[in-house]
Amino acid sequence: MLINLTDYFEVDGKRAEIKVPYEAQVFNDGINELPIVEKDDLNLLVENVGGGKLMLKGDMKVVIESPCDRCLKPVKVTVPMSFDYSVVKPDGFHEEDEDDYQDFMEGYELNSETLINNELIMSLPMKVLCKETCKGLCPVCGKNLNDGECGCDTFVPDPRMAAISDIFNAYKEV
Ligand SMILES: [Zn+2]
Ligand SMILES: [Zn+2]
Repeated sequence: MLINLTDYFEVDGKRAEIKVPYEAQVFNDGINELPIVEKDDLNLLVENVGGGKLMLKGDMKVVIESPCDRCLKPVKVTVPMSFDYSVVKPDGFHEEDEDDYQDFMEGYELNSETLINNELIMSLPMKVLCKETCKGLCPVCGKNLNDGECGCDTFVPDPRMAAISDIFNAYKEV
C-alpha cells in the first residue's frame, strides 16, 4: 500500500497514528516462500518533527510458517517487529541526510509492503525448531526420527575419511 505523506511533510507538528494492513500472503526470506498465517495491522505513528523531517514509529506482529531447521516440519513462528526511522522531505534531501535515506519511500509516498518486508527479514529468528529436542531426519532414509527410530546405521564416519571416500567415488564415476 502506498501512503501519501505530503501533508505530514508540509505541516510542522502534524502527527497521526495510522493503521496499515499488511497485504502479503507469503513472505520470501530469500530461500523459502513462507506462508503468513496471522497478521496484525501495522500501527504507524507519523510525526513532523520540523525541518522537513518525519519520525516514523511502528510496531506489528505477524505469524509465519517456517520449516523446522532439523526435520522440516512447518512451525508457526511469531515475529514481533518495531521500528523507529526518520525520513527527510524528498526535495529537501542533501548529502548529509544520507542516514535518513529509506528505501521504502517513493517520493512523498511510503510503500508499507517494502517497509514491513524489510522489518520482517531483520526480525526473523536465526533458528527455527519444532521443539528443542527435535531429533531431525535420518541422514540415510530421511525418516522423521521424532516419529520413531528407523533402524538405519547412522554411524557418521570421520569427516576426513568421508572426504577421502568422496575422492574415490569421484574417480569411480570417471
Ligand atoms: Zn523438528
Ligand atoms: Zn533411516
